[in-house]
Amino acid sequence: MKLILLGAPASGKGTLARQISKDFNLPHISTGALFRESILKGEKEGLTAQSYMQTGQLVPDDLTVGILTKRLAQEDCKRGFILDGFPRTINQARLLQKEHEIDAVILLDIDLEEVSRRILGRVTCSNCGEIYNTSFYSEEACSKCGGTLERRGDDNEQTIKSRFEVYQRENAPLITFYENKIKHFAGQERPEQLYKLIKCFLEKSFKGQKE
Ligand code: ADP
Ligand code: ZN
Repeated sequence: MKLILLGAPASGKGTLARQISKDFNLPHISTGALFRESILKGEKEGLTAQSYMQTGQLVPDDLTVGILTKRLAQEDCKRGFILDGFPRTINQARLLQKEHEIDAVILLDIDLEEVSRRILGRVTCSNCGEIYNTSFYSEEACSKCGGTLERRGDDNEQTIKSRFEVYQRENAPLITFYENKIKHFAGQERPEQLYKLIKCFLEKSFKGQKE
């Protein structure tokens, strides 16, 4: 199954994608994570992307679609995938549609006040990638693996405003574009409850596809 997750920055897409990925055995593909990997490797694409990410702007479509297409061509994407953070523009959605028939789109509805609270508290395990929020989690290390928790470089007050503006401008047309496939969920919901609802929706929609 080919899934898209839509929602504001820090609406919970990453956490949700990790859960679906585990239960449905599908690769979790985040364009933001692909860029961060590329930056760490010191690749040219990564360095170009970084200059946009630092100010909370979208990376240009050709670069973004390029890095994504390369990833989707890998063997583990044959059975499907979960896209987190892509598409973010109508042009990206159109380019994706040329190559892949999307089965479902999940939208996490959340208000922006809640989102800025979450972004400022968000930390990630540098070892296993688990996401925590310092408003709910006060330990110094990851409870799963003991890894150190790190804040993302672009999670700061300077970028939040522009990331929201970009989201509000670009997301509404995407909702229209995927009208027939989209299912709304309340992002404010407690994470366990939210996942229960989404898992149930996916199991109903894709009976037989799960391995
Ligand atoms: P968040 O959802 O919290 O903004 P992401 O990891 O999805 O975090 O994205 C981080 C940054 O990477 C974005 O602010 C943007 O600069 C860039 N980026 C990620 N995905 C895309 C995309 N599909 N198109 C353009 N830029 C992107
Ligand atoms: Zn960990």
